[in-house]
Amino acid sequence: MRYADGVAAADGALDRPIGKVAPRLGPKFEALGVHVAGDLLRYYPRRYADPSRLTDIAGLEIDEKASIVAEVRSSSGVLRARTSGKLRVEAQVTDGHAVLHLAFFAQREGMAKAFAAQMRPGRRGLFTGKVGWFNGRAQLANPAVVWFDADDEGAAIEHAERPIPVYPASATLDSAKIATTVQVVLDGLRDGDVPDPVPAEVRQERGYGELLPALRRLHRPETEQDWRVAQQRQRYEEAFVLQAELARRRVRAAAQAAVARPPVPGGLLDAFDARLPFALTAGQREVGEQIAQEIARPVPMQRLLQGEVGSGKTVVALRAMLQVVDAGGQAALLAPTEVLAAQHARSLRALLGDLAEGGLLGGAEHGTRVTLLTGSVTGAARRTALLDAASGAAGIVVGTHALLEKNVQFAELGLVVVDEQHRFGVEQRDALRAKAAAQPHLLAMTATPIPRTVAMTVFGDLETSVLRELPAGRSPITSFVVPADLPAWMARTWVRVREEVDKGGRAYVVCPRITGDDADGADLVEPGAATLGDQGAAARRPPRAVLEVADELRGLDELAGVGIGVLHGKLPPEDKDRALADFAAGRTPVLVSTTVVEVGVDVPEATAMVILDADLFGVSQLHQLRGRVGRGTAPGVCLLVSGARPGTPGDDRLRTVAETLDGFALAQFDLEQRREGDVLGASQSGAASSLRLLRVARDGDLIEQARTDARAVVEADPELVGHPALRAAIDQLLAGERDEFLDRA
Ligand code: ADP
Ligand code: MG
Repeated sequence: MRYADGVAAADGALDRPIGKVAPRLGPKFEALGVHVAGDLLRYYPRRYADPSRLTDIAGLEIDEKASIVAEVRSSSGVLRARTSGKLRVEAQVTDGHAVLHLAFFAQREGMAKAFAAQMRPGRRGLFTGKVGWFNGRAQLANPAVVWFDADDEGAAIEHAERPIPVYPASATLDSAKIATTVQVVLDGLRDGDVPDPVPAEVRQERGYGELLPALRRLHRPETEQDWRVAQQRQRYEEAFVLQAELARRRVRAAAQAAVARPPVPGGLLDAFDARLPFALTAGQREVGEQIAQEIARPVPMQRLLQGEVGSGKTVVALRAMLQVVDAGGQAALLAPTEVLAAQHARSLRALLGDLAEGGLLGGAEHGTRVTLLTGSVTGAARRTALLDAASGAAGIVVGTHALLEKNVQFAELGLVVVDEQHRFGVEQRDALRAKAAAQPHLLAMTATPIPRTVAMTVFGDLETSVLRELPAGRSPITSFVVPADLPAWMARTWVRVREEVDKGGRAYVVCPRITGDDADGADLVEPGAATLGDQGAAARRPPRAVLEVADELRGLDELAGVGIGVLHGKLPPEDKDRALADFAAGRTPVLVSTTVVEVGVDVPEATAMVILDADLFGVSQLHQLRGRVGRGTAPGVCLLVSGARPGTPGDDRLRTVAETLDGFALAQFDLEQRREGDVLGASQSGAASSLRLLRVARDGDLIEQARTDARAVVEADPELVGHPALRAAIDQLLAGERDEFLDRA
């Protein structure tokens, strides 16, 4: 087959099942996600070992998966355990200073002997395995070994100066075997055999070389320079393919007709503006104007609105919804949790006053209706809500995932607003948009500041607007780190809570878990927040739990007579609502809670946020939690209670959060700290898993270039007729994304 780019495909060579390429290793490669020969070409080394540089053994960490360049010092010969009769070989390797113990266990004597024979003192090799702790010392059990001297072993390599690729391996398939198999595939390919997703003219413009030589340098570099240059090229390829897909989505959505919803003078929006008790901030006006113009056009708006907690996004969204309602359409607001959906419905109704009582007795003349539809709205209320949505009686329908269900229909859906967009996948967003006859306008919102490069990667098909200033009259928040193991500090914390309550304030006390024996409670904390480096965290007592802490606070002298409420995700919805209402009304001015209060919960009287085991939370999450206080006129205080030792990553995170209120600065810090999959969010992991070399925290410029290039290519040729290799790469990306989505569903 011949591609239009003029590149000959290797007559199916890349499509050969991996089981044919490496007959006995097939299933082991499948387990690593390598199905055909072509997959192997992009199964890149994780890093490269330098045979001329010995690894610092003293710097190894327990439980770390390590590849160590070292020299054999001694070997025990074959040992047989007295009772079990099991065979093992013990050996020591060294970096010239420290010594690392190796233990090799074998079923058969022949294997043990072979290993012992290889372990000749003075020999240098690459030892890969998990660093364990045994008998009071670090030990590598059953390491995979690549020797650096030319030897008769199959795994030996010819040139000891070459960087050694270290592949992400599995327990049954080590790096050396992967390397050998990759070589087999590479050796069978000729120039032009591997179609390049990056068009030649783009490649030339950016100064990148041909694909196959780059892959050869990545998998079998002769110098460090080789793999570095090749890696950069493949990073660009990843960015380019992803951006091409995003550009395609953008072009496709823009090509669909939307219903123009121009402002209607004298309508609900004007009535709403006239009664708004405050002046819009400059940012709200500016973004509002931009949105108003976009939804007035017959092209679907695709906009992401970022704004810190309390920056007034809801008002901006409501004004857009009213413009659509005035023009004869309906708006749907999709929220990630029941608590948030209910709160949105409440605050929209409160903002609208009698404008939200359309069709009801006493409603303003042109009023509309705000309808709530969540999983817990059942029976007659549900039938009414479904009817309101389907008949158009409800101009605004607020809900959770329940809105996506098949039986939910709209008369004339004109605008979809997605709150906390990062909690939804693209599929969910599109499922809701599919309920409209014409493509509805889309306004996505997020209170999590997203660094620009992440926004380009995750929301690359959306234009972004940012609300930077908070409405006037917002109170300052001061933050402190409180050492959990100093009783005087803890007592002072509860005294402070008491003082806030006595002044008429409210205090949140957030815990990582619900109950002491809550096995899946860790899910409540963002994955990847605590790292292995947080040694203190692993060793100490289990994280604090809501129910336990609530009991404890009820027994404290400092809080005698203060009502203490409880809120967590496993409560029935009516209990959640009651807990929030009791808290808001001041019946229980202290609310012990999980992170369900993280997003959007709005109680203006809240002035204190106490976060227990704060070091287990991620930076953005802490910032979000802190945003729950200082929403009224009284100043807020945030107390970050933690047992993390000074200098640990957990402690660093807390100090950083305590030092700044700038959400974008914190988001950037967070990004640099975290793993890629976590950065892009669970719901976006389909795209994330396609990124092997690209790091959005580091590769912003590259992503920007790739986006410019990809948009140009896609705009000139939306169906990519002239770029079959790019189309194939995108299909593969989408197949991965679909698999992930199906896995989750
Ligand atoms: P966000 O959704 O961005 O977290 P909200 O829209 O919920 O923020 O606004 C937070 C609070 O500030 C709400 O009580 C809202 O009524 C109020 N608010 C919004 N805009 C303004 C403004 N321009 N001036 C004063 N208060 C405002
Ligand atoms: Mg909000």
